[in-house]
Amino acid sequence: MNAKDKGLGWFTRRGFLYGSSALLTGAMFRVSSVAAQEAGTGREQAKSGVATPASMAGHVIDVHHHFLPPYYQQLAVEMGGEPQHWTPGMSLERMDTIGIQAAVLSISNWIAGAKEPTAEQILRLCRECNDFGAKMVQQYPRRFGFLASLMTLPDVDASLKELEYAMDTLKADGVGLMSHYGPGAYLGDPAMAPVYEEMNRRGVVAFVHPANGWYDYRFEPGKNPVKLPSLGAAELPIDTTRALLNCLGENVAEKYPNIKFIWAHGGGGMLMLLCRSASVTNDGTGYEPMYDRLSKAVSSWYYDLTNTISPPAIHGLLAAAPASHLLFGTDIPRGGNGRFSPDLLAALPSAGIPDAQIQNVIGGNAQTLFPRLRQKG
Ligand SMILES: [Zn+2]
Repeated sequence: MNAKDKGLGWFTRRGFLYGSSALLTGAMFRVSSVAAQEAGTGREQAKSGVATPASMAGHVIDVHHHFLPPYYQQLAVEMGGEPQHWTPGMSLERMDTIGIQAAVLSISNWIAGAKEPTAEQILRLCRECNDFGAKMVQQYPRRFGFLASLMTLPDVDASLKELEYAMDTLKADGVGLMSHYGPGAYLGDPAMAPVYEEMNRRGVVAFVHPANGWYDYRFEPGKNPVKLPSLGAAELPIDTTRALLNCLGENVAEKYPNIKFIWAHGGGGMLMLLCRSASVTNDGTGYEPMYDRLSKAVSSWYYDLTNTISPPAIHGLLAAAPASHLLFGTDIPRGGNGRFSPDLLAALPSAGIPDAQIQNVIGGNAQTLFPRLRQKG
């Protein structure tokens, strides 16, 4: 058994075998066929037309898909970060290969070197990314939606202006937020309340992506005490967890019930911390009422399953939130450019998603949140 088989064994053994509905069989056939093509074993089938994505049942929507407009790429290098190449064509090609009909674009965590961008650079970054996203939607209305960046946070005035421009002029499908901004302004921080109020008034979808954690071992790999790549495997989802817990602590779900928060990567480590959060909070509420409050908030939010499709994660999420709040995502072009996405799509049934919910999780739920991407005809 090689390393890949060891890590992915539960679905390489079972994922392609189980599943009862015709729809599911179609979806599994498509993704397993693509996986075979990528391994160089399915080219004949692909040429015959049998396995082309358009011919398959199922409308797959990727709610966690990044775009890197030219100024994003330029600024990353100016800040000392690695050059990152991306074009819209690269996303489309990858989506077609995997069988993704539509993707919701957002900018990713800011990968930079030692320097921090100035306020002017952030303003320009935000505006250029948002204009670029709107143009992509205009050019490919059935393939893309876009989430407006509010990298301007925690600057409330600049963020309110950008939010108004993005929603009213650019017709963004929602906003893309980071788990924290600057040196420690975590989402939920009351200092950003006017922005949450406006998002709540508009009833926006707000996708929360992790920002880099408190320490980025890529710059000093020798100091990394963790065997796995610490940023991707631990720091990023843990930073999402910090933001989510802060929002729970600040009663964000109760104060702003109209914001449809989507938490990346299944909410990070949130599931394991609900009991502990309720039991260490000493505000006089008592454990049970506090646990109930936190659970209610968690069940009101949405979760993308990007690299989170494993039985423990899926069973936990289904216990914490309705299946209608689970969404498929890939992290393209990050995270290996979605190289495991076909496998992860195929793994949904054996990971615990009920057959009747598979189609909703891979695309139906996203169509409800993003009406622009509803399947036509
Ligand atoms: Zn991402």
